[in-house]
Amino acid sequence: MQSIDLHAHTTASDGSLTPTELIALAAEIGLRAVAVTDHDTVDGLAEALEAARSLSLECVPGIELSIAYHPGKLHLLGYFIDHSHPGLCERLRVLKENRARRNERMIAKMQALGLPITLEEVAAEAGSETLGRPHMALALAKKGIVASVQEAFDRYLADGALAHVPKEKIALEEGIALIREAGGLAFVAHPHTLKLADDALPAELLRLREMGVDGMECYYSQYDPARILQFLQMAREAGLLASGGSDFHGAAKPLVRLGCVDGDRPAPLALLAAMKERRAERYGLPVSGSSAQTVRPSHASLSCASAPPSC
Ligand code: AMP
Ligand code: ZN
Ligand code: FE
Ligand code: FE
Repeated sequence: MQSIDLHAHTTASDGSLTPTELIALAAEIGLRAVAVTDHDTVDGLAEALEAARSLSLECVPGIELSIAYHPGKLHLLGYFIDHSHPGLCERLRVLKENRARRNERMIAKMQALGLPITLEEVAAEAGSETLGRPHMALALAKKGIVASVQEAFDRYLADGALAHVPKEKIALEEGIALIREAGGLAFVAHPHTLKLADDALPAELLRLREMGVDGMECYYSQYDPARILQFLQMAREAGLLASGGSDFHGAAKPLVRLGCVDGDRPAPLALLAAMKERRAERYGLPVSGSSAQTVRPSHASLSCASAPPSC
């Protein structure tokens, strides 16, 4: 089975492997392609693409944008983006500045609550300059202020908790436009986090497609075969493409293994072929890569037997 993983994080956001280490692991477990999709940043992409150049592994340059959404959480994956696109880079720079300000405000709130925690201690938990709540939680736990990362969230950091400050999020229209302007395809990540009832999801998916969304993540590390089939069917009915990825974060989320969706199975290569076709149609590009034959993702993909050795 030729397999791929179209959702993975690095130290450019909150993953624990550097882009080079992620690409090396993907090659080691025999993946054909891996998409690097850090939260609201393209900072890891140049390194990841360079690391993949000498390997028989395709690195799909990506991003995972946090979108303003109710009732749940909408994460928008951008695939095949030009990570040097000026419009995208400028917007991400502003977003990063606002995040830094939010971190300072959250740390000030914790200090006002009497917690002995500093920005430097939080920064020491991160592999890059992009800090977030997980790094605050690690710092609080390391200092013994809380017994666990989860306690840090529950008491101080979760939405609405004592030290929480909301994060600036991109509007859906803007997120789609940013990804398209940078030559990419826009996919809804882990659609269960939209927090819509199963009977409300199809209409919402149609609305998202009409707004310019290309597809949804149907294979995911937390989804069992029945869930995957359900989402594949919903995607097809809404005219959306399907993608699949683990949401690998390394040691930061130790239960999620690179290349594994649906327990111990990989996502099929055919998904990537269909995405490349869409991209070629949209942007008038030649369909590139050895995986670009016309293959439609189907339920048959679920019966694949062999899994990457890490699974
Ligand atoms: P940030 O981007 O700084 O708002 O941090 C978001 C990350 O914090 C998410 O990706 C989760 O990993 C983590 N997170 C958010 N809320 C919770 C929660 N209630 N419990 C545990 N982890 C959480
Ligand atoms: Zn993350
Ligand atoms: Fe996500
Ligand atoms: Fe993710």
